[in-house]
Amino acid sequence: MPGVHVKTTYTAGKRRTAAIGPARRIAEELRAQNERFAAAVENMSHGLCMFDADERMIICNRNYIDLFRLDAKVVKPGIRFFDILQHSVDVGVASQSAEELHAIRKPYIDGARPSTYEEVLSDGRIIVISHRPIAVGGWVSIYEDVTEQRRAEAELKEQHRRFDAALANMSQGLLMFSAEGCLIVRNQRFLDLCNAKAADFTLGMTHRQMLEKLVALGIFVPVEVDIEVEKAKAALEAGQPRSSYRELVDGRTLFVLRRPLAGGGWVATFEDVTERRRVEERMTHLAHHDTLTNLPNRSMFREKLDQALGEAKAKPLAILSLDLDRFKAVNDTFGHPAGDWLLKCVAKRLQHAVRGSKDVVARFGGDEFAIIQSGIKSAADGEKLAKRIVEIVGKPYRDKGREMHVGVSLGIALYPGDGHDADTLLTNADMALYQGKSEGRNVYRFFEAGMDALMRERRALEADLEAAVSKREFELDFQPILNIGSGEIVGAEALMRWRSPSRGLVSPENFIAAAEETGLIVQLGDWALRKACSVGAHWPPEMRMAVNVSAAQIKSGGFARSVISALAFSGLPANRLELEITETVMMDESDAVLRTLSQLRGLGVRIALDDFGTGYSSLGYLRRFPVDKIKIDRSFIRDLDRRDTAAIVRTVIGLGAELGITVTAEGVETEAQLDMLRKADCGEAQGYLIGVPAKAADMSRLLHSQALLRQSG
Ligand code: C2E
Ligand code: MG
Ligand code: MG
Repeated sequence: MPGVHVKTTYTAGKRRTAAIGPARRIAEELRAQNERFAAAVENMSHGLCMFDADERMIICNRNYIDLFRLDAKVVKPGIRFFDILQHSVDVGVASQSAEELHAIRKPYIDGARPSTYEEVLSDGRIIVISHRPIAVGGWVSIYEDVTEQRRAEAELKEQHRRFDAALANMSQGLLMFSAEGCLIVRNQRFLDLCNAKAADFTLGMTHRQMLEKLVALGIFVPVEVDIEVEKAKAALEAGQPRSSYRELVDGRTLFVLRRPLAGGGWVATFEDVTERRRVEERMTHLAHHDTLTNLPNRSMFREKLDQALGEAKAKPLAILSLDLDRFKAVNDTFGHPAGDWLLKCVAKRLQHAVRGSKDVVARFGGDEFAIIQSGIKSAADGEKLAKRIVEIVGKPYRDKGREMHVGVSLGIALYPGDGHDADTLLTNADMALYQGKSEGRNVYRFFEAGMDALMRERRALEADLEAAVSKREFELDFQPILNIGSGEIVGAEALMRWRSPSRGLVSPENFIAAAEETGLIVQLGDWALRKACSVGAHWPPEMRMAVNVSAAQIKSGGFARSVISALAFSGLPANRLELEITETVMMDESDAVLRTLSQLRGLGVRIALDDFGTGYSSLGYLRRFPVDKIKIDRSFIRDLDRRDTAAIVRTVIGLGAELGITVTAEGVETEAQLDMLRKADCGEAQGYLIGVPAKAADMSRLLHSQALLRQSG
């Protein structure tokens, strides 16, 4: 019998039978029983050892031998228990002496009751030993190596400990429900989040009971409990995690995530996302709004426009593109805080001008705004709004005793007439705005086909102009100015010409605006100033040189330096230079501009107000800055035969006399006009009648011959 080390069979031995036949049969039976017993003992998973009343071993199995690493040749039936212990000490498996071991086991062996105790071997293994007394004396011991089991138990315990610690220290609230839907785990954080007591949410509660309690305690904003339970159930059945936001009565928001567990049931985590949500909302708001005015920004505007156009039956719309006039002047004069304040006021006025929530007012940045006017019946509705906006925005802005003025120009594109997509509509509205701006301020313009061609043309002109500056394609002509009283030429005005190889001779009317728009005017104006001064320096001593100056030049900074340098290089005395500015320079209301002009005036440079009568002609400008000369625009001189126009011209001449300002009439073409001006005591005249703009050499000749004449006369 391989593997069986039971050498002694267990026999009932003492009974005897007389009959051979039955005795044989019984012996057979006993043998078979012994074999079965031996096999059973041998195949036990535990170690087994049996001792008789004299503490001598009757039987043991292989597991026992192996467990204690004993020698089967030594541990044989008949060996005394103590000797086995000694042997185990000898082979080094015992951690104590045989005497100690025996003393420990003695009470168990002697005890009449089954007992169990543990022994730790020298190699750390833990053996559980169960003793069972046998009725006839002696005992059976069963040995089990529980080392692995104990390790697993310890590990499980540690895992529990860690789980408890993790639960207690989680930043999220946690609930765990059993497959039956009852609460089996709940951490402290959950109670903290809900400001609830442990007693409120006892283990064993169902999901429904918990929801009802959360609402009843005034923690959750009321929910449809039935629906919630159903939804949770459906998600669990689908094996899907489900997340939701829970609004709390105190205004906080919890993020709830429910995950099904492998063995049924689910775990729910609760996270306070109030702050995160606020930040997210703020971020989304910021991404879509202008921080200063809180109006939607360009991206939001685009989104809204796309949305409106994307609707199945998109209704007619008007897109208004707005740009403030003279806003930069407010910034320059009153400072950026005032500029910001004004932009906020404009935003409010625009919102008032449109119809509540249906229309969208957006700020694109700087002084650019845009509006979607929805549900218009015709272009007239767009026009009405544009008019209203021009009026409302144009009203003065009063802050801390200061009064500020801005205007607004608008370009309007209509859907579906002027385009079908947001890009086209916005571009076309911009184009109309651009067109409006180039024609004057405080206007609105509808987009018209052909404006894009105009725009392209303008871009080409700007590009050519830029190239022309470096190629020096510019010239100056000079137009004489007559002193009406003396009949003498007292100076000339320098007028710029562009001799373009491709475009021919281009009039300033056609390129000054583009030069101003692109900023090229600064460079170009500087050149004109130097050139004019150097020409004027060679004229007879009393001759004045008038040079036109754009607002952009004065605002660019460094203008005074540029004038002083032109005077110094040419040697022209300051009092022979006259700078012609237009009302737009004054309109800018900027202190910096006025300071520059006073500085130059302080040097003796004369300032003339050109084209008087065409712009706002506010007499207030004359008070803001004292000029040396007023040039009445030629449109008035042309209409001098009309009584009202003549009256205006006479009034301006009178005003000039009163203020000690020279008045020059521009565009004098006829003797009759000159006559009338003479009678009205107008100081000076300029126009084709006196002389057309001429080349420098021709002008020089004219002036010198007049000087000679005077000397000889
Ligand atoms: P402005 O300063 O009012 O110049 C007078 C304009 O009237 C000149 O036009 C001149 O040729 C024209 N003119 C003079 N007499 C008569 C007349 O009897 N009848 C008519 N119909 N027109 C007359 P121009 O040279 O085309 O200049 C136009 C404007 O361009 C100027 O108006 C001025 O504002 C601007 N400009 C000219 N040169 C410069 C410059 O160097 N710098 C700047 N910033 N602007 C300039
Ligand atoms: Mg002029
Ligand atoms: Mg003029």
